[in-house]
Amino acid sequence: MRALCWNGVNDLRVETVPDPEIVNPHDAILRVTLSTTCGSDLHFIDGYLPTMKAGDIIGHEFMGEVVEVGRDVKKVKKGDRVVVPSFIVCGECWYCGHELWSLCDNTNPKPGYQQVAFGYPTAGIYGYTHAFGGYAGAHAQFVRVPHADNDCFLVPPNLRDEQVLFLSDAAPTGYMGADFCDIQPGATVAVWGAGGVGLMAIRSAYLLGAERVIALDRFPERLAMAERFVGAEAVDYSQVESVVDTLREMTGGRGPDACIDAVGMEAHGTGPAYAYDRTKQALHLHTDRSQALREAILACRKGGTLSVLGVYGLMDKFPLGAIMNKGLTLRTAQQHGQKYLHRLMEHVVKRELDPSFLATHRFSLEDAPKGYELFKKKEDGCVRAVFTS
Ligand SMILES: [Zn+2]
Ligand SMILES: [Zn+2]
Repeated sequence: MRALCWNGVNDLRVETVPDPEIVNPHDAILRVTLSTTCGSDLHFIDGYLPTMKAGDIIGHEFMGEVVEVGRDVKKVKKGDRVVVPSFIVCGECWYCGHELWSLCDNTNPKPGYQQVAFGYPTAGIYGYTHAFGGYAGAHAQFVRVPHADNDCFLVPPNLRDEQVLFLSDAAPTGYMGADFCDIQPGATVAVWGAGGVGLMAIRSAYLLGAERVIALDRFPERLAMAERFVGAEAVDYSQVESVVDTLREMTGGRGPDACIDAVGMEAHGTGPAYAYDRTKQALHLHTDRSQALREAILACRKGGTLSVLGVYGLMDKFPLGAIMNKGLTLRTAQQHGQKYLHRLMEHVVKRELDPSFLATHRFSLEDAPKGYELFKKKEDGCVRAVFTS
């Protein structure tokens, strides 16, 4: 089959590789119909996330048609159209039992890497470094889905592929971020980053009862989308002197009730703290530029909630004093997609959510490297590049 492979820093190529096979009786093989780029892929494409190997197939947001199932698969069958969350879960461990799906104890066959960095390993992800299990990714004609009964979610026939593709990751991640905010009636939520996850967090915050949602970004097209498709008030942070002051003014002097960081470790910003981060990262002295998160911590109202969706490795200059003294609640996780998929599918069916506007650009799998280039440079208003195989 054809697949998009990582061959080194900023070196992606479409290659011919062996087809995936059923390895365990609970596996399924999918013919991938749509897959999409994700901002978190850029971390290893740019070389900031280690444990990639030349020839690794990348891609973790996808949907497809089931073409083969193992003998223990009960809920899905050949011919089903399904969408698959990016984290692989066993459905049987303590974490799965507590709906902490991305923390599944049984699906990361290479726990050593994360044990050193994090103390305990997370679940495995498709196409996302060997620290996250070394699974083959989904920018390919076919992909193996282990634990198919837990990880394949049936798509109702009246929905288009584009409407459900982002239920693989961007939508549940954004929804979880809003869910973490424990939104009360009348609440104001600020969201850093109007990419796929940020836009989904904005819509989700409204679905969960927020009165106002403020989007912060520096790309005019993304801010326009935040206004037009999900009803946010847009702030171009590159045009204001102080994001913290701007948000204070917009909220009657109190600050947003909750702040969602949908940016992560490759944040851009302005001022001396950003320059310091950038220099240190360029020298490989630490892995994160964390301007967005620091701003969110300072901007959040006293006693508010900080919801971190951006992906981080290590970070210094973390203003714990501000979190402690202001009494903030910090909540964060990689997406627990399996917890939210049914709810999100229902919102899509009822036309309360339509993530298809995220698919700004479409490429064939053969042109996937071009898609990533456009996505990375955020050219031509690209929010997500979608690949058809
Ligand atoms: Zn993703
Ligand atoms: Zn588990």
